[in-house]
Amino acid sequence: MLRCNEVAERASLLIDGELGPWQRLNIKLHLAMCRGCRVFVAQMRITCDLTRMASGSEEQHIDPEIQAALARRRPRPIGMV
Ligand SMILES: [Zn+2]
Repeated sequence: MLRCNEVAERASLLIDGELGPWQRLNIKLHLAMCRGCRVFVAQMRITCDLTRMASGSEEQHIDPEIQAALARRRPRPIGMV
């Protein structure tokens, strides 16, 4: 069983799909029992989505709600009213 700090260390690898099946399984077992880590990984996933969107790749995989939120925040070009 992984500890919370070990899950936190591997969260970005999990989201990027860079973990092996055994490590993924260990993390999913921990997430099934630990609400704190579930929230942490969920927030990290959103951050990763935003980062990908900012870099312009894989835009089609981003949650539509996040896209809408970003679109609302995007400043208008100067000169448009
Ligand atoms: Zn935990």
